[in-house]
Amino acid sequence: MTALRLNLEKVLNELDGSDARLVAVSKYNPAEAIKEAYDCGQRIFGESHAQELCSKQQSLPSDIEWHFIGHLQTNKVKYIAPFISLIHSVDSVKLMQEINRQAIMTERVIDCLLQVHIAEEETKYGFLPKELTEMLASGVWKDLEGIRITGLMCMATNTNDTYKIRNEFRTVRQLHKEIKERFFNNAPWFKELSMGMSNDYNIAVDEGSTLVRIGSKIFGERIYN
Ligand SMILES: *Cc1c(COP(=O)(O)O)cnc(C)c1O
Repeated sequence: MTALRLNLEKVLNELDGSDARLVAVSKYNPAEAIKEAYDCGQRIFGESHAQELCSKQQSLPSDIEWHFIGHLQTNKVKYIAPFISLIHSVDSVKLMQEINRQAIMTERVIDCLLQVHIAEEETKYGFLPKELTEMLASGVWKDLEGIRITGLMCMATNTNDTYKIRNEFRTVRQLHKEIKERFFNNAPWFKELSMGMSNDYNIAVDEGSTLVRIGSKIFGERIYN
């Protein structure tokens, strides 16, 4: 067995019995690597650049469920709107409105997660918890018939302090629960909690993650060029 297969099986074994599904983060990896994971049964792949995603989508099997996980510029939405299964990284009202517009043009309803900025690093995107609650309370999202908000996404601080990481995930899980009650009337489809990456997915799963986004642990260290 190749390293990729072994890595994938190891991760899937760890997730077995939990609520979490695997998003295999394939950014910067070639289509052949995705095909190899696909041949092992993996169907959900995550990408963070619209152009890279579109060219992979065209060359790979059509039953792949593509997830967009990175910061998405509004002018790129149109390229992925026809096929994207879930956008994890909705971080502004403007982006929500553009996804809605493109979804309506392609006669789709696009599932979206709202990204929560919980980490210490300023470089990370997302709504601060307070901004998120205010945005939802304003009701701006309610008329957007082309999108369905199915949960929250976050990235924890990049640190070895597992106590801190666990606290961040726990905060977002609690926020998810409050939002689900207050704004979504406990709708069953508001169920996703996208949290956990290669370095912290075990903690995330422990804290109730439903979607872990794992890249390097499966595909190896990324080569940026
Ligand atoms: C790249 C990326 C991941 C995967 O990171 P790994 O550390 O390689 O598992 C997860 N989530 C987001 C938003 C990413 O950009």
